[in-house]
Amino acid sequence: MIKIDNIYIGSDLFTSADFVKIVLSSKDILIVTDNIIAGLHLSCLTAALNLTPAQILILQSGEEFKTFATVESILQRLYTLCYDRSATIISLGGGVICDVVGLAASLYMRGINWLQIPTTLLAQVDAAIGGKTACNYLGIKNLIGTFYFPKQIWIDLRFLSTLPSREYFSGLAEVIKYGMACDASFFIWLENYKEQILQREVTTLQYMIQRSCELKQSIVAKDPHDFDTRMVLNFGHTFAHAIEALTEYKLYLHGEAVALGMLLATHWAVKLSMIDKEVLDRLEQLLLFFGLPTQIGRHSYNINMLCNYISHDKKKRAGIFRFILPCALGAVTNVEIATLDNLEEILQEYA
Ligand code: NAD
Repeated sequence: MIKIDNIYIGSDLFTSADFVKIVLSSKDILIVTDNIIAGLHLSCLTAALNLTPAQILILQSGEEFKTFATVESILQRLYTLCYDRSATIISLGGGVICDVVGLAASLYMRGINWLQIPTTLLAQVDAAIGGKTACNYLGIKNLIGTFYFPKQIWIDLRFLSTLPSREYFSGLAEVIKYGMACDASFFIWLENYKEQILQREVTTLQYMIQRSCELKQSIVAKDPHDFDTRMVLNFGHTFAHAIEALTEYKLYLHGEAVALGMLLATHWAVKLSMIDKEVLDRLEQLLLFFGLPTQIGRHSYNINMLCNYISHDKKKRAGIFRFILPCALGAVTNVEIATLDNLEEILQEYA
């Protein structure tokens, strides 16, 4: 088992004396998971703890259940169990479970202990780290949320063996983002170990997740509430959020949209002479290897709609156009752009 601050990474973690001791230090525990994960992985956790049925809350799986009603159902269960501020809530699941359980944990009695057990690759390298909690509201993604940091994060590599390929590759897009945005040698390592990553080889996964967590953790530590330096983690995300919104969150998984977003941002950086075309080619090759989308193609949206969406969204938020663009392999920078007039023309070349 590897430990990075309060993050534990390894296989078969839940029978370890460390885990049982930490969890049982609180007598009032609630585990929250979803119906898919409950069928696959809940027993490995409950076997280690002696819980009543009321101490397990099984939600419906899926982004459509990332609602305030779901958060309320968690709060209600905590109240029904008569839990006070000494209680511990455990989130066992992907990013959706991480986000809604974290929000409930931050709200109940102004905050209770929260243990994260992320089960998707995307949650293990991203959603579980950094203290952002959320639910969707009034049709707007992540409109309600808090910054609230889990006490511990337990990452068990065994969960990844049951993860569908598409979900696994979606998580890999965020891993590749860390290489592109923060660490050139990690990007090169990903290129060199791509076969082992594809095979989900355990020692390779262990290093890949460890390095991703280290990178995210160190960036978050410098700017926990996302005021400035944490923005490097948004590489590819301006385009990704626009693509997801325009396709009503139905066509792409988040990481798939991030893959396209990173390519569009890197293509733009090439056109601005900020970076060599070779970097764009290498990024494209790596994403392609993992079956991630690399072309906008023919869909219900196009580059024109994408540019309009970004232009309105950015204006609404800040009045000026700021983008995170790559300036070298493993480095990004915040670029202020006066006008988006020629963006459409530039991006059309990549579409
Ligand atoms: P998800 O939570 O919807 O999980 C994807 C699917 O995989 C679900 O059907 C789930 O039941 C299933 N699943 C989970 N673990 C499994 C396993 N081990 N084996 C088999 N199936 C499993 O999706 P996600 O990609 O993990 O997370 C996406 C969410 O995360 C979005 O809502 C996004 O907004 C959020 N997110 C949050 C942050 C943050 O910083 N808080 C960062 C990135 C993404």
